[in-house]
Amino acid sequence: MLSRSRPSVLFGLLALLSPALAFAWGETGHELVNGGAIGLLPPDLRPFFERHRAELVRLANEPDRRKKIDKAEPPRHFLDMDIGGSPGEYPRKFADAQRRFGAKAAQDQGTVPWTIEAMTAELAAAMTAGDEASIVDVAGRLGHYVGDSFVPLHTTSNYDGQLTGNRGIHKRWEAEMLELFPFDAEMQPWMSPAAEVEDPLAFAFDTLLASHAEVRNILDADTELKPLRGTPEYFAKLKEKVGALAARRLGQASTGTASLWYTAWVKAGKPALPEPAAKRGE
Ligand SMILES: [Zn+2]
Repeated sequence: MLSRSRPSVLFGLLALLSPALAFAWGETGHELVNGGAIGLLPPDLRPFFERHRAELVRLANEPDRRKKIDKAEPPRHFLDMDIGGSPGEYPRKFADAQRRFGAKAAQDQGTVPWTIEAMTAELAAAMTAGDEASIVDVAGRLGHYVGDSFVPLHTTSNYDGQLTGNRGIHKRWEAEMLELFPFDAEMQPWMSPAAEVEDPLAFAFDTLLASHAEVRNILDADTELKPLRGTPEYFAKLKEKVGALAARRLGQASTGTASLWYTAWVKAGKPALPEPAAKRGE
């Protein structure tokens, strides 16, 4: 927690020493989530997003890059919802979390659900304004936070298994395993067309609770495989045990991202999105 909330030089150093703190889902995972989401959009939205595919995929990792230069960034990526009671009872309003834990602790324990809520509204505003650059920027970065909320280890104070003898599991599960095995086909069955989300904040909390329910499975698998750590066999077995879980959370994160993009558009009143400028002579 210390390292996640203390940026600057110290944070940079810690990030180098402990790459788990620097990336979530690994770059590959976030690219799969944003890239997959585009194909789940309805015909009114999809062409605009397809046209900006390269940028949306690049932006999928922008918030992690920003952690290195912006001290306010790290808490936006997680919620330690097991602090202060059962995860289901974590305050749904940030003001309530501040009252209960104090302003600093509430911030340090993470703000991902409120970040998702605020950015969905920001995306709707950009769509209303017809601001092409802003729509792409906000949508791309929103996909990152949605992706993070689908990662079990982003919902616990034991975020790197450091409290249970599983240190390093964050990166092993969500980054290294994803680099070693292709997940793009395996996540497909969990992807479905974008659907309107009535309440983005409630959606984010539901997502986080579902993620939290899987923390134990990941830690148990890692504990069982402890003797194999550092070997290729470790990752093969980890994939066997909790690879399907990663595929499911990746696919669902893609669906969630597409659904929040779509929801922002509905909230904006379904405006026509900016068209490419006509070329001269057309
Ligand atoms: Zn992140």
